[in-house]
Amino acid sequence: VVPDARRVAPSFISSVIDSDLQAGRYGRVVTRFPPEPNGYLHIGHAKSICLNFGTGLDYGGQCNLRFDDTNPEKEDTEYVDSIQGDVRWLGFDWGENLFFASGYFERLYGFAVQLIKDGVAYVDSLSEEEIRDYRGTVTEAGRESPFRTRSVEENLDLFARMRAGEFERGAGVLRAKIDMGAANMKLRDPILYRILPETHHRTGDAWKIYPLYDFAHPLSDYIEGVTHSLCTLEFENNRDIYDWLVEALRGKCGLDAAHRPYQFEFARLNLDYTVLSKRKLIRLVQDGLVDGWDDPRLPTLAGLRRRGVTPEAIRSFCYRIGVSKTNSRVDLALFESAVRDDLNTSAPRVLAVTEPLKVTLSNYPAGGVEWLDAPYWPHDVPREGSRPLPFSRELFIERSDFSETPPKGFHRLTPGGRVRLRHAYVLRCDEVIHDAGGAVSELLCSYDPDTLGRNPQDGPLKGTIQWVSAAHGLAAEFRLYDRLFSVAEPEEGEFSDHLNPDSLVVRRGVVEPSLSQAEPGARVQFERLGYFWPDPQDSRPEAPVFNRIVTLRDARGLDVSVDERRAQSRREVSAPAVKLDPREGLDAPALAVFKELSAAGLGVTEARTLAAQADLLAYYRQTVRAGAPEHDAANWVVHELAGGLRDAPERLTPASLAAVIALANAGQITGRVAREVLARVLAAGGDPVSIIAAEGLRQVSDASEIAAAVERALKASPDKLSEFRAGRVGLLGFFVGQVMRDLRGAGNPQLVQEAVKARLEA
Ligand code: ATP
Ligand code: MG
Repeated sequence: VVPDARRVAPSFISSVIDSDLQAGRYGRVVTRFPPEPNGYLHIGHAKSICLNFGTGLDYGGQCNLRFDDTNPEKEDTEYVDSIQGDVRWLGFDWGENLFFASGYFERLYGFAVQLIKDGVAYVDSLSEEEIRDYRGTVTEAGRESPFRTRSVEENLDLFARMRAGEFERGAGVLRAKIDMGAANMKLRDPILYRILPETHHRTGDAWKIYPLYDFAHPLSDYIEGVTHSLCTLEFENNRDIYDWLVEALRGKCGLDAAHRPYQFEFARLNLDYTVLSKRKLIRLVQDGLVDGWDDPRLPTLAGLRRRGVTPEAIRSFCYRIGVSKTNSRVDLALFESAVRDDLNTSAPRVLAVTEPLKVTLSNYPAGGVEWLDAPYWPHDVPREGSRPLPFSRELFIERSDFSETPPKGFHRLTPGGRVRLRHAYVLRCDEVIHDAGGAVSELLCSYDPDTLGRNPQDGPLKGTIQWVSAAHGLAAEFRLYDRLFSVAEPEEGEFSDHLNPDSLVVRRGVVEPSLSQAEPGARVQFERLGYFWPDPQDSRPEAPVFNRIVTLRDARGLDVSVDERRAQSRREVSAPAVKLDPREGLDAPALAVFKELSAAGLGVTEARTLAAQADLLAYYRQTVRAGAPEHDAANWVVHELAGGLRDAPERLTPASLAAVIALANAGQITGRVAREVLARVLAAGGDPVSIIAAEGLRQVSDASEIAAAVERALKASPDKLSEFRAGRVGLLGFFVGQVMRDLRGAGNPQLVQEAVKARLEA
C-alpha cells in the first residue's frame, strides 16, 4: 500500500529519529508499547501499536511489549493474555522482547534507595489530603512538607519498613525532592511509591509498596535501552519528571551513562460515534449495554475482529490518520473507508436476501432449474472467477426492492414494472398478492427467456435487483451493525444516554447456496447490502449467521472515496485525502515547507495542505504570528476554516482567529462555540470575540457557579434524588442534563459531570 514501504507516515517523530540517527546519538532505534493490563485494547491503542512497532520496523530496530503493571488493584492476567493476542493479531511481533514493569520491582526499589542516599527522595508521612493541600495551585506555590528534611538514615529505615509491610495503607509515601514552587505542578515533589498491601497478578504478596507510573515508566524505558518513548499528549507535563529521574540516575545502578531515553508526545486518537476510554468501555460491558468485550459494535480490537474487520484495514487506517501533535476527532467515515478499500478487492460479490418476499414465475416450468454462470467480480475489479447459480420458478427478492406505491425515483420493481435479476433474466410483476392483514405476501411475475445476458427489445429497464432461488437458498441470520452511539461526540455529558437503539438489527433471510462451500472466515460482499462474514462464535455451516462488517456507502449515501467524502464534510473542507505518500505532487519549495511544518509538529494532512496552498499557508503563518500555537492554528485553518477562508478571507482576520483559539485553549469557550462563531463570522462578518462576549457564550468553568447550579437541580427534583440514593445510578445523567440546562448549555461538560458526581456520591 505504501510506496516507500514505510509502515508509519512521516511525521515530526520520524524527523526527530532521522536527525538522532544522523547525529549518531543512537546506534539503533528501540521503542516500546506499554499497555496497562486493566482492560481490552481498542482502536486508539492500535494507533499506538502501529506507531511503536511500525517505527521499530521502519528503522530496522526493535519494539518491546511491556506491561505497565504497577497497580495491582485493577490488573489481571486475563487482560495480559488478551492484549498479547490482539497485538499479534494486528500483525506485530515482539520476539524475545516481552517485559513487565513488575519484573523490575527489585531494581526499581534499588533506584529509589539510590535517590534517598543522594538526598533527593524522602519518606513523607503527611496524609493524602494534606499532601494535596500542600501542593498549592496553578497560581500559588506549594509548601514544603515538615518531613522533607528527614535524614538519609531515617528515610532509608522508613522506606525499608514500608517495604516490609510495617505500615498501614496511606501511612506514608516516598517522594522525590524537587521543587514545591515549580511552575509545573507535577514537579512539586511527585510521589514515587505508595503503600498498597494488595495481591499482584504476577508478584503475588511479595510487595507491600508499589511504584507509581511516573517513577516506573521512565526507568523501565531506561532499563530496556528504549531510545524514543512515544506517549500521548496528556503526558506532556510528566515529561519533566521523566527527565529529572533519568538524569538523577544517569550512569548509576547499572544504567547506561552514554545513552538515555527521551519522551515524545503525540495526539491520541478520538473517533466519532464511539468512546475510547477503558473506563467507559468497562462500563458498557459491565452494565450489559453491549454483549461482552468482543461485541462487534465496540471499538475494541476484539470487537472489530469479531465484526470481521481485518488487521490490514486497521493498519491502513492508522497509516492514513498519521501522527501529529494536534488533538482532533477522526471522522468515522475515514475508518469505514479504510475497511471498504481493504474488502473491495478481496471480497467476492454474492447474492443474499435479508427480508425475503416470495416471487413465483408463472411462465417458468414447475420443478425446472438451470444453473447460471455468475462472475464473482464486477468489471472494476479485474479478477477471474465465477460460480454456478441456480434459477427456478420460486425465488426470494428483497422486500424493499418492491413498492406498490413507488416514490419518485424508485428504480426497482413495481406492479407492471420490469427489472433485471442480477446475473439472470428480466422479470415483470403481473400481480400482487396480499395477506389477510393487507401486507404484500407474494408477487406473481413472468420472466423473459430472451434476456439472459441481453437487453430486452422494447423499452428501458428500471434497475437490477438481487435474488435467491427459494428451493436452493440457505436460511441465514443477518446481524446488521451500526454505530453504537447516535451522536458524534458521546463523551459530552452522560454517554450512556446517547446509545443508538438501532445499533444492531437482526434479520432472517436466505443466501445463495454457493456459500455453504465458502472457506471458513471468508468475507463476501452481499450485493447492495454491504460486506459480511460469518460470526466466528455463532455461525454454523447449516445455520449461518452473517455479521455486517460495513455498509457499501456511508449513512449519508455518499460514495466510498475519501476525497469525495471529505469534500462534503464541513470539518475538512479542503483537506486533500492523504492516502499514499503525502509528499507526492509537491514541488521543491512546497516540499521544503512540508518538511518545516512536519518538523514543527504538524500532522501529515495539515502540513501537506498548507504546503500545497500558498494563501492558506500565509494565513496560517499570520495566525501563528498573532500568538496561536502552531498545531491549533493549523488545525483550525486546515480542517475548519479552509472553505470559508477561500470564499471570504477578509471577514476573519488572523488576529481574531488567534484570539478565539486563546479563549478555547483557556477553557473559556467550548470547541463547539468556537466552531459555530467562526463559521458565522466567515459567513456574515463581525468580530468573533465581541460576539462571544455579547451573547454570553463563555463557558462556565467556575466551581462555585457550577456548585450552585447543582444545588438548584437537586432541590428541583427531590424524587429523582431519592431514587438515585435508592440505587438508580443511571439518574446521574439526568442530573447532569438538568445542571447543563440551568447553565443554559454553557457549563464546562467535564466539570459539571464531576461536580454532579461528587455531590451525589457525597
Ligand atoms: P485509557 O485512556 O483507555 O484508559 P490508557 O492510556 O490508560 O487508555 P494504556 O494501557 O496505558 O491505556 O495505553 C497503552 C498505550 O496506548 C499508551 O502509550 C497510551 O498512550 C496509548 N493509547 C491509549 N489510548 C490511546 C488513543 N486513544 N490513541 C492513541 N494512543 C493511545
Ligand atoms: Mg495509561
